[in-house]
Amino acid sequence: MAKGGYQDVVQKLEVLKSKFVTRVTLELEQFTGQFRSSAERTVRGELAQEGYEWLHRLAGSAGTFGFQALGRQARELELKLKSVSEGGGALPADEFLRQLEGLKELLSADAGSSAIPVLDNQVADALEMTRQGVDLIEPDDSIARELVSGLSRYGYDVTIYPSPDAHQSAGASNRLDTAAVIVNACFLDRFAAVEPEDEPNPVRPLIYLSRKASFETRYRIAEAGAGGLCTVPVDVPALADRIEQLNQERDDSAGGRVVIVDDDEQLAEHYRLVLSAAGMEVVVVTQPAEVVSQLAEFRPDLLLMDIHMGRYSGVSLARLIRFQPEWLGLPIVYLSSEQDRDEQIAALAQGADDFIEKPISDQRLANVVRARCNRARQLARLATRDGLTGLLKHPTIKQELQKEFARCLRHGTDASVAMLDLDHFKSVNDTFGHATGDTVIRALANLLRHRLRKTDAIGRYGGEEFVVILPDCPLNKAQTIMQDVCDQFAGLMFSHQAVDFRVTLSVGVSLLQDFNSAEAALDAADQALYQRKAQGRNGVTLYQKPHPEPRRETAPS
Ligand code: GH3
Ligand code: MG
Ligand code: MG
Repeated sequence: MAKGGYQDVVQKLEVLKSKFVTRVTLELEQFTGQFRSSAERTVRGELAQEGYEWLHRLAGSAGTFGFQALGRQARELELKLKSVSEGGGALPADEFLRQLEGLKELLSADAGSSAIPVLDNQVADALEMTRQGVDLIEPDDSIARELVSGLSRYGYDVTIYPSPDAHQSAGASNRLDTAAVIVNACFLDRFAAVEPEDEPNPVRPLIYLSRKASFETRYRIAEAGAGGLCTVPVDVPALADRIEQLNQERDDSAGGRVVIVDDDEQLAEHYRLVLSAAGMEVVVVTQPAEVVSQLAEFRPDLLLMDIHMGRYSGVSLARLIRFQPEWLGLPIVYLSSEQDRDEQIAALAQGADDFIEKPISDQRLANVVRARCNRARQLARLATRDGLTGLLKHPTIKQELQKEFARCLRHGTDASVAMLDLDHFKSVNDTFGHATGDTVIRALANLLRHRLRKTDAIGRYGGEEFVVILPDCPLNKAQTIMQDVCDQFAGLMFSHQAVDFRVTLSVGVSLLQDFNSAEAALDAADQALYQRKAQGRNGVTLYQKPHPEPRRETAPS
């Protein structure tokens, strides 16, 4: 994150730039000297090959450090040497030396740096925190009170403002850490007028409330950049669901984890600074041999890779990475000064997803990489997340349980696993229809997401069955937490065609280290769940270890 601020990033980029100048000056001198001492009349053979490789790197990096003209000139000379080294004619020595001299002059013609996209610190902080606050701009007291109590059951803390002006004068209109701002559509014009000028706010979802909304009103609401429209009387579970979704989107669009593989350390460091300033987490790998271990450790959303890295080729490296099935889905984007279209396409055919040509402006690099990361996250979510609830799918939550079990063995920590099942759910479906049943399932998912810690894993195990993994959580604490979830859930009011109803929940819990395997622990939680069903549902039952002495049943109902 851009914790150091704009000046800090600019300063670091300047340091890199001066290192670049020092390095290229030295390389130019070495190259000129070497060529002079060879006393050749033309450039050819090994020297041409060496020169070509060096110029290729220079052409790709100079623009990034603010030397656009140098980059273009290096490209021109590169292509000449390329054709020489491929046997196409010769380049006279004096012309070559003149060209090198020209490069030296261009090295002092600094075009200045491009604008660096730096994520505002306030925005960065807002993206990192869990958001519980909801601002409600609603003049009708009864609607306001209903929303305060309804949303509080989902863990949202609602603050009421009677008008947009009140919202603004309280200083709330500038806050970015709210989960949502809900505004009565009667304020559509006034709200837009007092709100800070912004495109659809990426860090603060906006939802309008309206009694009845014509197409024209809906359109104006959409035009105002709103993320949702909610009709009055408010369907609270659907509203909570929408807030949840919008925040999920906001989380997806934040950050992004990137590994950069480039053998040019300064260039890689430049990219790292630019991308981290734009809010991404970045790891640089300059030794190709370390790529795989870094992937396993850092688990990026995206891999940015240079194509020519000394004796290594990014294309072969991409293939090597794909040997491991777990990296088959990892997006690999080449960042290379290769301009030959055929070579680019050949590279893409070998298992990479896209191609970015060097040099690229800092702004564009940040935008392209961020967009790719978003997309990668969305796709990863589709693969591992359940469509209805956004929770982990069955196989993924089982994998997580295996991992947690292994962690407990290694570190000797406590972890609990809970199995949850909705009570009499069949009759909910039979009475109110499957769609309403789905709303209930989603409501539980949202409640779990809010009530549990970020480190807890939540999965939809089956239709109306859920598994929750609570790391660092002994049984008694797990019981308190899950009982709280049961109570909160039982308090939710659902409605279907003017009929209000509530649904309850049963939970069985076991402690991972009481068992020899993750499966055995889950099985025990399941047994406890069925005991709870037999004992009257709506509550938590802990698995009782048969040995050495059975524990007393402690769960209230
Ligand atoms: P118990 O208290 O014993 O758990 O009773 P129950 O009715 O909840 O138990 P049962 O397992 O018999 O019923 C589960 C029901 O959940 C049956 C099925 O139609 C419904 N269900 C499963 N998946 C979904 C889903 O995705 N959406 C909806 N609406 N219903 C689902
Ligand atoms: Mg059930
Ligand atoms: Mg069931």
